[in-house]
Amino acid sequence: MNGWVLPEEVLRGAPAYTPRPRELADLELLLSGAYAPLTGFLGREDLASVTRRGRLADGTQWSAPVTLEIPIGLTEQLDLANPIRRVLVLTDAEAAPAAALDVTEAWEARAGSMYISGQLRRLGEGPRGPFRKLRLGPAEVRDQLPQGRVLGVFADRPLHRPQLAQLAHAARTIAGHVLIMIPVGGPGPDGLPPEALVRAVLAARDRLPSCTIVAVPLAKTGDDFRDALLYNRVAAAYGVTHLLSGATALTSGGLRVVLPRELAYDSRDGQWRSRDDVPPHTRRLALTNEEIADLLDRGVTLPEWHTPPAVAREVRRSRPPRRERGLVVLFTGLSGAGKSTIARGVHEALLEGGERSASLLDGDVVRRLLSKGLGFSRADRDLNIARIGYVAAEVARHGGMALCCPIAPYHSGRADARRLAHEAGAGFILVHIATPLEVCEHRDRKGLYAKARAGEITNMTGVHDPYEAPTDAEITLDTAGTVDEAVQTVLEYLTAEGWLEPGRR
Ligand code: ADP
Repeated sequence: MNGWVLPEEVLRGAPAYTPRPRELADLELLLSGAYAPLTGFLGREDLASVTRRGRLADGTQWSAPVTLEIPIGLTEQLDLANPIRRVLVLTDAEAAPAAALDVTEAWEARAGSMYISGQLRRLGEGPRGPFRKLRLGPAEVRDQLPQGRVLGVFADRPLHRPQLAQLAHAARTIAGHVLIMIPVGGPGPDGLPPEALVRAVLAARDRLPSCTIVAVPLAKTGDDFRDALLYNRVAAAYGVTHLLSGATALTSGGLRVVLPRELAYDSRDGQWRSRDDVPPHTRRLALTNEEIADLLDRGVTLPEWHTPPAVAREVRRSRPPRRERGLVVLFTGLSGAGKSTIARGVHEALLEGGERSASLLDGDVVRRLLSKGLGFSRADRDLNIARIGYVAAEVARHGGMALCCPIAPYHSGRADARRLAHEAGAGFILVHIATPLEVCEHRDRKGLYAKARAGEITNMTGVHDPYEAPTDAEITLDTAGTVDEAVQTVLEYLTAEGWLEPGRR
């Protein structure tokens, strides 16, 4: 890697590209050495070999496709035959240069996009962001670890007493030093933002055996198999000899897997011990993730026998009860379906009740300011909903409620809005106002359908453009009822789900 000369002028003239979040996380792991022996994104031959037989072309075991995919238009700006015209600058989410890639290979990934690979060189000062002191690379960590066995654990959830007891037990059993790796490449499985997860894990520090804690930019990709293999690789790179993990079948990289023992709380003396050693009448089992989420949603303090109070406080701060947590409510439906009318009714009820602050991001109002200038092409519609989703998630990040009523005809746009809300630690509810086209057209409140039929406007949703009816709506309203009844249905749902205080109306 060091043999690659990268003159300043080459860098200055190079095109820049921001990879997708998962690729950026992979990039960081490649640059830090956490994916050793890999030093760059997979080349064509390696990728084919990994896909076929779970090994790199040279025979090294490696099962996860770590790839970088870019739009085809960008590869056309590069000249792979010319070393000074084939460098691509990879930038992080804030557009700061993170690495230079000397693109020596490019081949088709899917229609419209290409895989690329080549030597990587870090640019800039390395990882940024909160808890940087914990974001150590594998070499730095290995230097700090004591000689001997190292018990690794990925803490993608806060450590409650059962996990703490399991860790202490496993560390004693193998007589090893503990290395806690916190995946901070994206929100945790329960939607905790990475910083909140780090805070919650640190809150348990005084109850941990002697240990080292690092933050690793790993993210779940939804492909459990790929994830498990990469997690093992990363653990091995960090010097772990024994991994505490429930995923037995997936050992690799010479790592031993230590299965967590099933523990139970013994109310006679407050100890956690092997489940079978605790008589049923004094036994309490660890809460499931669902039970924990439910207690948090309802604002019930996590019980002290299960969670150290400092951890419980930290978790509650990032997962406040639903009645205080931010929420995005997205109304979707055809023009004239009644989105604005119903959303306005809900907004008024919230203003009257006074228990929540709410912002109404009405479709037409948004188009006059936030999305002024956008038309109704697919690209413009996507941008419109992306802007609304972004603003709504920011409102919700700060505990507010955002009521949005764009048409939002495409599933992907609605799914993005949901993801943004969740990443902001907020809830998301999709309300489908399923008024049939004939009814909307008959109402024709804004005269748009008449114009569409007369050919004066094109791109009218339902007439020329598709409306992808949601299959994931929390609430579906048809036109059977009155406006008041529809508003009431939404309010009752929000109350029943804990987003509004009961008994306020
Ligand atoms: P959108 O925001 O979906 O384009 P609007 O709320 O602007 O739709 O318009 C819907 C029209 O339909 C309003 O004039 C509203 O009074 C009328 N309407 C009649 N019945 C209903 C109902 N049950 N729910 C919602 N709106 C209704």
